[in-house]
Amino acid sequence: MSETSNSVHVQGGSGTFVAPAQSPYDRQILREHVERRVGHGATLTLGLHGRQWVITRLCVADSPCVSCTQPLGRLSCSRGGDVGATCIDCVLRPGGNDTIGGVHE
Ligand SMILES: [Zn+2]
Repeated sequence: MSETSNSVHVQGGSGTFVAPAQSPYDRQILREHVERRVGHGATLTLGLHGRQWVITRLCVADSPCVSCTQPLGRLSCSRGGDVGATCIDCVLRPGGNDTIGGVHE
């Protein structure tokens, strides 16, 4: 199943959407797609690299991402047990989400 390891699975709203997330272009398309779907009031579940993220639409867009500290924008991504929210860019970044939520003190 290695050919699917770099694919993003988005569930919620009108069904399941699967797309690659390997190139910057892939990730841009995915981000736009997610923004459209979550805009309908739906909560989406995004699966990537064996992780599940819950994506919600933010009314206030100035909260910082817990990973890169950039403003989250319109999309808030979180996992169970996460204290803060992560931006969609960090979620989709190749290998970048290995460090998210993995801070052990
Ligand atoms: Zn971020």
